[in-house]
Amino acid sequence: MMTQRSTEQWRALDAAHHLHPFSDTKSLNEQGARVITHADGVYLWDSEGNKIIDGMAGLWCVNIGYGRKDLAEVAKNQMEELAYYNTFFKTTHPAVVELSTLLAEVAPEGFEHVFYTNSGSESVDTMIRMVRCYWDIKGQPQKKTLIGRWNGYHGSTIGGASLGGMSYMHEQGDLPIPGIVHVEQPWWYKHGKDMTPEEFGIQAARWVEDKILEVGPDKVAAFVGEPIQGAGGVIIPPSTYWPEIERICRKYDVLLVADEVICGFGRTGEWFGHERFGFTPDIFTTAKGLSSGYLPIGAVFVGPRVAEGLIAGGDFNHGFTYSGHPVAAAVARANVAALRDEGIVAAVKEDIGPYMQKRWREVFSQFEHVDDVRGIGLIQAFTLVKNKATRELFPNWGEIGTLCRDIFFKHNLIMRACGDHIVAAPPLVISKDEIEQLLATAAECLREFE
Ligand code: PLP
Repeated sequence: MMTQRSTEQWRALDAAHHLHPFSDTKSLNEQGARVITHADGVYLWDSEGNKIIDGMAGLWCVNIGYGRKDLAEVAKNQMEELAYYNTFFKTTHPAVVELSTLLAEVAPEGFEHVFYTNSGSESVDTMIRMVRCYWDIKGQPQKKTLIGRWNGYHGSTIGGASLGGMSYMHEQGDLPIPGIVHVEQPWWYKHGKDMTPEEFGIQAARWVEDKILEVGPDKVAAFVGEPIQGAGGVIIPPSTYWPEIERICRKYDVLLVADEVICGFGRTGEWFGHERFGFTPDIFTTAKGLSSGYLPIGAVFVGPRVAEGLIAGGDFNHGFTYSGHPVAAAVARANVAALRDEGIVAAVKEDIGPYMQKRWREVFSQFEHVDDVRGIGLIQAFTLVKNKATRELFPNWGEIGTLCRDIFFKHNLIMRACGDHIVAAPPLVISKDEIEQLLATAAECLREFE
């Protein structure tokens, strides 16, 4: 059991010793962090006894919901049996073999191989090294450049932050590293005002073609994108976008990579987001929903082309002490099995996802400053705008979104502001009643806000 302390004590010790990620530590320490003590289903409780509805599944990761005792039991048993061994140097263990076998079953046909990491960022960095290694093996070592997108998010490591298109991250630390370039995000609402979404999808894909031609197809290793940009504001591309991207990548012999760290493991109603958008990547990166956040683990899924190249090529000099960690692997396996066997992913497609999408639009479309109300499965957003008729955004992008998010938080609802996009991605096990509670709280806050 954790030591019992008062909220003030937790806060004081946190401020004294803990540097928080993505936080302005000075102002956080002045306010004091909210202390989350326990969780169950879609709810969190803080140290003052408030019950909070978690509309973000943590950081888009607790797909199966909080408080699953069966996963805790799996972790305990695995820890007692084999707490650690590595998968370097010609060894393996049952937990990682069983997980890999299950992942090959739930992945689309052809994805027979996975490489394990501990996080989404590590999956992305692994993918970058893998792609470059693949082209070396193929005798095209000049194919090194990766194309990412502005406002894409691919993690916080130097590779992931470079490939991501968050300028506030690039500004700290002289990023991107060489060999990484970016194209505009496929945000129809802002960039496609005079076009249908379908026309805009083709145009946005052609920006990738333009970039390939600018760099030189013989130098471009891969194009990388999230099927739906998550942290960039739940940017859902028009239906024409991904098929056109796929055509372009094939035409110029550029590898196509989907970053499924958010979209993977049921978030869109399919196991993986690329299935929802009808394209086949060469590689896709995952983490988060793989273990529903119960333990850190990520996986890079490798399709036949790259797998054959890597296997024929010999050593891939890359890996982590905890690649395929037995306890994380055992918990991930139990989590993925539950997502499948309890029909959780199927329900996102057939029942709870469509319900959320219908109600999300009904509730939020009525507000004067809310527009582009959108979503798929259990990932959704709307944008706070100054003028719906002209699609004018507020000046000082992000200011109003942050205010709105803080009001939700005060009312015990967690939704996130990505700039002025307000986004939600609750646990996939959320019930219809819980959706109604989430929507009613958010609507009440918005009325106060408008
Ligand atoms: N890729 C995507 C699409 C993500 O959304 C994230 C995290 O939000 C990452 C990579 C990085 O994952 P992690 O924070 O586990 O390193």
